[in-house]
Amino acid sequence: MLALLGRLIAEEPASLASIATLLAAETGAECCSIHLQRADGRLELAASEGPCPQILESPTPPPLAAGSLHLPVRRAGRLVGALVLRRPGGASFTTEEHEAIGLAAVLVAPNLAAAVARPPEPATFTTPEAARRFSGRTLVPGLVIGPAVLPGLPAPQRLTADDPEAELARLHRAVAAMRREIDALIAAGPEASRKGAGVVRDVLEAYRLIAADPAWLRRVCEMIHTGLSAEAAVHRVAGELRERMRRIPDAYLRERTADIEDLSGRLLAALDEAAGASPVEPTPGAILLARRLGPAELLTWHARGLAGLVVEEASSTSHAAIVARALGIPTISGVHGLIEAAEPGDEIVLDAAEGGPRGDGSLAQAVLRPSPEQRRIYSQALEAARQRLASLATLQDRPATSRDGVAVRLMLNIGLPLELAQLDATGAEGIGLFRTEIAMMARGAVAEVAEQAAIYSQVLEVAGARPVQFRTLDLGGDKLLADNDAPTETNPAMGWRSLRVGLDRPSLMRRQLRALLLAAAGRELSVMFPMVATIAEFRAARALLLAEAERVRPMPARLRVGTMLEVPALMWQIDALLAETDFVSIGTNDLMQFLYAADRTNPAIASRYDLLAPAMLGLIADVAARARAAGVPLSVCGEAAGRPIEALTLVGLGVTSLSMPAPAVLPLKAALGALDVAEFGTFLRGLCRNQNGASSLRTDITIWLQERNVCG
Ligand code: PEP
Ligand code: MG
Repeated sequence: MLALLGRLIAEEPASLASIATLLAAETGAECCSIHLQRADGRLELAASEGPCPQILESPTPPPLAAGSLHLPVRRAGRLVGALVLRRPGGASFTTEEHEAIGLAAVLVAPNLAAAVARPPEPATFTTPEAARRFSGRTLVPGLVIGPAVLPGLPAPQRLTADDPEAELARLHRAVAAMRREIDALIAAGPEASRKGAGVVRDVLEAYRLIAADPAWLRRVCEMIHTGLSAEAAVHRVAGELRERMRRIPDAYLRERTADIEDLSGRLLAALDEAAGASPVEPTPGAILLARRLGPAELLTWHARGLAGLVVEEASSTSHAAIVARALGIPTISGVHGLIEAAEPGDEIVLDAAEGGPRGDGSLAQAVLRPSPEQRRIYSQALEAARQRLASLATLQDRPATSRDGVAVRLMLNIGLPLELAQLDATGAEGIGLFRTEIAMMARGAVAEVAEQAAIYSQVLEVAGARPVQFRTLDLGGDKLLADNDAPTETNPAMGWRSLRVGLDRPSLMRRQLRALLLAAAGRELSVMFPMVATIAEFRAARALLLAEAERVRPMPARLRVGTMLEVPALMWQIDALLAETDFVSIGTNDLMQFLYAADRTNPAIASRYDLLAPAMLGLIADVAARARAAGVPLSVCGEAAGRPIEALTLVGLGVTSLSMPAPAVLPLKAALGALDVAEFGTFLRGLCRNQNGASSLRTDITIWLQERNVCG
């Protein structure tokens, strides 16, 4: 927020309206008002964004509503005005947010002082009727402006129409077709009711709703008379109805929103069919709004050119988030109400801030139907981000070395051949984690040996002399093939998944190992196994690999067999493991989940446990020291390895190989160049010794790095 604000204020002259707009956007406030302190003691409202409380024009502010924040703004000790912010639903600001807004007040003080010195101007109110802001959490940082797509309702291809009478005729024909379809469903009788009782009931209720509410169709006709096409009118009215239904206290009635969705979908399909339209593909650059999304589904949307994702339920280490990160799709989660309020084709700003408490999980915004002022500010930020990327690109060919000369191997986590281009684009030294299941998820099933071998061989071809660590199939948990049924286990993350499946279905595993060996075609091959919990499991998996290697010719020039450290039990077998494994890669996503018994896909607990906690830091320092003593290469490949503060901390603890999503490589290289690893290591060891029961050391570590301008 402060960087964006600083840039805006550096503009000559930054209007108070722009500042109010930006502050509201960046703090997740539904309203932000800026007030000037007049000489007669009055606080005068000068600019506002959103529907602001009427608190002003009084010498002393009256009590504020819950969730409001009132910050006096001083310039050279003199009161020049106030900032007032309010969160939706009275949600309060955290201490850190309060501090950041306090800093913002310092930054804007000169602008307020200048405004006080000028004669009073008419106040600027930026409260566009249609613009609405929704808060969420960042899963993949980035900023996108684009049209909304909602799975289910296709975006109207034509928004306006010149001939309302023709549109009305189309509508009536479509309504008649839709009613015939519903009648046919009802007439299908008990058989249909048994097969899909829920569907039939919903359709009937939707039918009753439309029959009982002729106002619905009247409203669609009214919209057509204003110049909208029939499709756009159906969309608009469906949106209005959704909004109305959402406010109904009765949960059953409220849930009938789905019926309206269904009804609108049927009507739109009938309109499309009559127009002979082919199914609508989303426009490239679109932003998908979804309640939940699986990784396979996301891949399908990506192929259609998706630019941004807003998902109600997902956390940063869920596989949809990992896929989104791999594909560089800015993503936010935990946004509620947006899906109901948005219409397909509505313009959306997706502002997923980076650098929050955990690099992800920071405050994110989705602005629906942004005002021209909001669009201007975000477009500027977009341009600034482009420039920043361009300047980072100059680091591509430089080695990743710290200020005191420690070389760190920065590698990529990828899972799709289309990501191979990132090797050159980032200058990464190799692929530290190739998630073989992602390509299988993309095609919906595990491929046969030849097809798998072709994928792996393409990876090795493109990587050339750069090392690649293939991980065997890690299916299960939240990584399901599209044609799989939903998991029936109560606890799939801890269930029959990953290596357990491979060991219980050795033919599946053998086919994959054969494909890998064939792909290597005499070159060096590194294979690692996920979710290893015992040495016996590692041995069994390795035995399968070695047995296959006996059969495939030519043999790889060198075969390296590694282990992922994801299950905490391995920590108590670590020395024995190090004596047998060729390399170890720490998967912090699963390791954190199991160490803290905290579901990695559950956003409600995502911020409760921190990698920068003494327990986790101690564990990593210990493994790093043991691996070094045993001469076994160690890397970290969980998402944390790509977040600057965590990644630098890992380096400070002695980890010199990190594997991460592509967008993380260059920023990390830049930060590393500013770090004195020896000095940082000494600081970290002291911090861990004196932690005194702290549940996170993040603040101390961040301050230390910030004070040395390493990263913030
Ligand atoms: C991990 O668990 O940290 C890891 C890298 O594997 P995945 O995220 O694919 O489970
Ligand atoms: Mg894992």
